[in-house]
Amino acid sequence: MPMFRIQNYLNGQLVAPASGQYLPNIEPATGQVYGEIPDSGPVDVAAAVAAAEAALPAWRARPAEERGRLLEKIADLIDANLERLAQAESRDNGKPLALARVMDIPRAASNFRFFGTAAPHFATEAHVQEGLALNYTVRHPVGVVGCISPWNLPLYLFTWKIAPALAVGCCVVAKPSEITPATAFLLSALCIEAGLPAGVLNIIHGTGPGCGQALVEHPGIKAISFTGGTATGRHLAATAAPLFKKLSLELGGKNPNLVFADCDLAAAVRTSIRSSFANQGQICLCGSRLFVERPIYEQFKTEFLRQLADQTVGDPLDAATKQGALASEAHLHKVLAYIKLAHDEGGTLLAGGHRATVPGRCADGYFLEPTVFEGLPYDCRTNQEEIFGPVVTLTPFDTEAEVLHMANSTEYGLSATIWTQNLTRAHRLSQALHSGVVWVNTWLHRDLRTPFGGMKNSGVGREGGLEALRFFTEAQNVCISLTGG
Ligand code: NAD
Repeated sequence: MPMFRIQNYLNGQLVAPASGQYLPNIEPATGQVYGEIPDSGPVDVAAAVAAAEAALPAWRARPAEERGRLLEKIADLIDANLERLAQAESRDNGKPLALARVMDIPRAASNFRFFGTAAPHFATEAHVQEGLALNYTVRHPVGVVGCISPWNLPLYLFTWKIAPALAVGCCVVAKPSEITPATAFLLSALCIEAGLPAGVLNIIHGTGPGCGQALVEHPGIKAISFTGGTATGRHLAATAAPLFKKLSLELGGKNPNLVFADCDLAAAVRTSIRSSFANQGQICLCGSRLFVERPIYEQFKTEFLRQLADQTVGDPLDAATKQGALASEAHLHKVLAYIKLAHDEGGTLLAGGHRATVPGRCADGYFLEPTVFEGLPYDCRTNQEEIFGPVVTLTPFDTEAEVLHMANSTEYGLSATIWTQNLTRAHRLSQALHSGVVWVNTWLHRDLRTPFGGMKNSGVGREGGLEALRFFTEAQNVCISLTGG
């Protein structure tokens, strides 16, 4: 099979990086190189920013409805190419093809459709000072913005940033993760097919230090929307703050899953399997710390481990596979190191714990058994640090105050899940949890209008709905005297 060579999307064209250098693209399920990624650098970033700056006056002057129609056209093209995109996502990331078909790619289309239809409805405020003055607020597109995304939900998170930026009239220079660049490249071709004007969106491929850093530092980039690890976010913030750029940071998590004795146990176990292991546990919203009220602890554990046996690890292309490969060899070794740490910290292994072997074409893939530990203190490193893989801990609790303390004990505050039939407790606890997103008796239920983001070291700012539209705009207040001076 010929190498799948990815190109940059620059000023409406698919082009090679200025250096002519490429990086290998590896298929995690096989461990084999199957393509090449542009190793772009500051020269490519500067060309993309220049193209975006040239496209900006016409793009921001277009009626919002017209911009919205173009975004909807891209959404339609994503739908029409669902199978091709799902296959590319699965191959690039290692996730089950079945998951990419129902989650990643449909959500990417929804992102464009949601913000495309939102654009004409984006209204601003007016404040009247009776008899004195009328103030109205104009929200101008902030200009050329940078969007940087991670490898776990590649097209899903990439488009979640790009769509609102384009909707409000910004032009974009975007960098997908170098681990999973394929669907961003396929999106470039769909944008050309949709008739998106040259320079409005530019997609530059490369590493974080080589390409992402140049994007963050470029003076033409007025705002940066970043999703990735907390350490990278901290570095980005340190770079961007002295340059006074607007920053939206969606970072790591170590999310608690609180299971009370009065819950619907069948639903709690079923969904907790998903919230623990979906996408190989590589969703920032996965609940990796399961706290179970003592009266049902043993029952929950038995049922959880029983259902875990159905969590088939296998070839992502196989319809029976529930868990595919981890995204990279380096990440597999990071997660294995955390499994060793959990042993060293005195944890009892209840399931998994080893690299999984999948015969045939996947014999060298980066597979890991779904892994469960118990008996670890809530404040040990295994329970405090983000592992971002199919590894969870089970911990019993006796009181609401105790579980709240343990749930809130990490540096993170992205999401939390509560399982209870007690309405009062659900509301009380939701308010007390230090998490930007709280789910009660559900998980990963998303309404794109709601604010999305984390507290503490899980991020700064919120995405979603109006929050995203506001982020990509600069508010200007106009005050008109009603007295004539
Ligand atoms: P990462 O921080 O390593 O990389 C994210 C992106 O940043 C990549 O595109 C990378 O190339 C780029 N990057 C790296 N160094 C850079 C630099 N110096 N300047 C500019 N860009 C740079 O994260 P990852 O390993 O790709 O993703 C996993 C992390 O993402 C996890 O911590 C996970 O929790 C987090 N995440 C958060 C959310 C959320 O919404 N909060 C969603 C998904 C993933």
